Amino acid sequence: MAWLRGERWWAWNMRHASKEHMRRVQGLGCVICRLVGLGPTPAQVHHCFDTSDRDDFLTIPLCPEHHQGQTGFHGLGERRFNAQYKTSERRLLAMTLRLLQEQ
Ligand SMILES: [Zn+2]
Ligand SMILES: [Zn+2]
Repeated sequence: MAWLRGERWWAWNMRHASKEHMRRVQGLGCVICRLVGLGPTPAQVHHCFDTSDRDDFLTIPLCPEHHQGQTGFHGLGERRFNAQYKTSERRLLAMTLRLLQEQ
């Protein structure tokens, strides 16, 4: 992007890198569906540790049900979600990064 310079170029580049990363994460398919043996199903991107300093590089793919549904992260709440699937955002994030590495 020759027409962008300095800080603006850096900001554009970071946004582009975020989008590209999230596209790859989404492309993996739902990590919970994988865990429970349903295979990779079409996913949305979930931001882990979703606070004011959330980061697009700390994201995992979850299908609509396992994301916002009644059996999902936001439906169950973090504690019950972790208990139900015997996992955690940390573990799912590590799993996501491993899967990306294997691609
Ligand atoms: Zn799922
Ligand atoms: Zn989410």
